[in-house]
Amino acid sequence: MNTRRKFLKKSALLSATGGAIALNTKAFASSGFAKPADLPIVISTWNHGIPANEEAWKVLSKGGKAIDAVEAGVKVPEADLNVRSVGYGGFPDRDGRVTLDACIMDHRQQCGSVACIEHIMHPISVARLVMDDTPHVMLVGEGALEFALEKGFKKTNLLTPETLKAWQKMQPEFKEKRNIINNENHDTIGMVAMDKDGNLSGACTTSGAANKMHGRVGDSPIIGAGLFVDNEVGAATATGLGEEMIKQAGSAMVVELMRHGADPEEACKEVVNRIVKANNGKKDFQVGFIALRKDGLYGGYSLVSGFNYAVYDKKGNRMVDCPHS
Ligand code: ASP
Repeated sequence: MNTRRKFLKKSALLSATGGAIALNTKAFASSGFAKPADLPIVISTWNHGIPANEEAWKVLSKGGKAIDAVEAGVKVPEADLNVRSVGYGGFPDRDGRVTLDACIMDHRQQCGSVACIEHIMHPISVARLVMDDTPHVMLVGEGALEFALEKGFKKTNLLTPETLKAWQKMQPEFKEKRNIINNENHDTIGMVAMDKDGNLSGACTTSGAANKMHGRVGDSPIIGAGLFVDNEVGAATATGLGEEMIKQAGSAMVVELMRHGADPEEACKEVVNRIVKANNGKKDFQVGFIALRKDGLYGGYSLVSGFNYAVYDKKGNRMVDCPHS
């Protein structure tokens, strides 16, 4: 264990009072995390993380870059019509329109994002091109669609008959639950990876909250809320009620807490606790984070039970149940 790690361990960042993390300003100067011996690694949210990780691993295991791996990985659930919360087959908004949000971020802290984009099966690839080919970070709505079409993406009807039927059937439930995201009506894919060179990247893509107001944008395309990467420290991504993640700058906060010495699970837990506190202790919704630290340590934490994530490293591809409050 290097000196900095020892120092951080000794300084016990989790205070005895209420589990709140006491920030250690001396630890602020980042880096000093040892590069893990076993690379690459990729982690991603929910069961659809398994096939997504498979695809990402194809890139990573050949020595490819994390940024290419995460893009390739999350495209799998985007194209899967059985995944009702991402891309093609995703649940529509309350007007029956499928609007998608996605963002991507690399080890240089370059990033791209699209929000409320319609008719495009792979918003993550549009976000990648916003990052690579424009001076901007974020394009929304019609502008994002126009950009995608200019770049050669094809318009697709994203609302499959099966999804439409399921959405119609769920209308009474949506009314009753006031569109609050709980364990049943969300499942963004957030993925973070570290390649053989120790570079981190992340991607996050979703159809957002089922039955949302038209034009609603969640955390998933917001850099800092749904996804954040700092190549000196680590990366984090989020799923669940996006409004709460935005209010806490959730993913950026998880990374910041890791900078100050928290391990990934502690950092995720602290931000979940802050969300609960901001809601006066209410726990009738779901939020969850996963994080990968620069030294290869990973973890996650959610507000309520049921959240899991997929991890793929040299030991294989497997699901991990996430601890919860
Ligand atoms: N975070 C997403 C949103 O609020 C929902 C989800 O995770 O499924 O749009």
